[in-house]
Amino acid sequence: MFCLLAAPALAAAQNLDAVVNGELSNLVETYKGIHEHPELSHHEEHTAALLAGELRKAGYTVTERVGKYPDGSEAYGLVAILQNGPGPKLLIRTDMDALPIVEETGVAYASHVRTKNAAGQDVGVMHACGHDVHVTTMIGTARALAATRAKWHGTVMLIGQPSEETIDGARAMLADHLYDRFGTPDLAIALHDTNTRAAGTVSITSGPALTSSTSVDVVMRGIGAHGAQPQAGKDPVVMAGEFIVQLQTIVSRQEDPRDPAIVTIGDIHGGTKRNIIPNEVKMEITARAYSDKARQIIVDGIRRTAQGVALSAGVPADLAPIVTVLDAESTPVMYNDPALAARVKAALVKALGANDVIDEEPGTASEDFGIFGLEGRKIPTVMFGLGAIDPVKFAAAQAEGRLLPGPHNSRFEPVPEPTLRTGVKAMTSVAIALLQK
Ligand SMILES: [Zn+2]
Ligand SMILES: [Zn+2]
Repeated sequence: MFCLLAAPALAAAQNLDAVVNGELSNLVETYKGIHEHPELSHHEEHTAALLAGELRKAGYTVTERVGKYPDGSEAYGLVAILQNGPGPKLLIRTDMDALPIVEETGVAYASHVRTKNAAGQDVGVMHACGHDVHVTTMIGTARALAATRAKWHGTVMLIGQPSEETIDGARAMLADHLYDRFGTPDLAIALHDTNTRAAGTVSITSGPALTSSTSVDVVMRGIGAHGAQPQAGKDPVVMAGEFIVQLQTIVSRQEDPRDPAIVTIGDIHGGTKRNIIPNEVKMEITARAYSDKARQIIVDGIRRTAQGVALSAGVPADLAPIVTVLDAESTPVMYNDPALAARVKAALVKALGANDVIDEEPGTASEDFGIFGLEGRKIPTVMFGLGAIDPVKFAAAQAEGRLLPGPHNSRFEPVPEPTLRTGVKAMTSVAIALLQK
């Protein structure tokens, strides 16, 4: 009796293992090729073309150049559809862009690509966030789903999303009428690689999984003067200093400590020479929060603090600080729908075993994947984590109480095997579980 019940599930798992095993060496080669040829956000032309070609070969109907940025330029988004009778419509998303980082991993397939960034500066380019892992996992998943069609019903809607790092790619695809043209999905899933877990494992969070990200620009305006005659001006450098220190009291004194939030000034520019008081200082701020309330407290606090500092310095009203919230560079909270997260976790446990599926604490990075769920979280979305660090190196680092470099680090080094094997098996198993009548 036990054997009769267990046999179909076992056969399905073995079947999928066989499919994944068969694809693996090709996927590893594909991964290395993508890794060696990274492209910055807004420039994913060749990566998108490669993905489109692979998905067409796997039997999907592919549409390229889906996406419009606010300035009217075209995005390299792609949509690949595989229909398999009546059933749910499942969106699976990969991002495709790389970062302006000079790679220092030393792997044989390291990137040596250099290019100009939007500001015209010469920069290195590296897949330092592992979006190459995601693209390759999607290719493997697409093939595996095509090969296991007898096990699922419905429509697979694969999304190759550009410009995740600049967080305007998901919006660009929706602005190009993604759902009007290709139908609105019932559910949406994605994965992201991580250095906090060993390759071979996956992790999942229920509820808020990643913070919202709010980009704010502040220009502290003063009155320039000779550095030896401060009384003749209003010094924006001193104001910026006061502003920076006071800003940290928003989180520590004004915001509810049970609702974590972060304010970071990552960029500050002002002045040209030591003996000149400049006219202005520009600062770029990122704010992270798990709730809309905390986000609002921070935005209001940034405005109030800037105004207050300028007021106390005696800056005239017409030179008040300019505070700009950049909606196009901001994302909502990445919210893992609890009911869907439970289904995804059950499928992961069934495919990988309970030991390799880890309940994860919410993280403080940000993602624009949640935008595919639409305002008000109309479409349930879940993103799960994919361990990417060599298990032996991971364990050795853990024993010393540390982690190896992670995303956005020049030494972040996902190990292709078993990361890709686990990614394809995990994503395919989740998709099959969700694509049932
Ligand atoms: Zn990233
Ligand atoms: Zn990323």
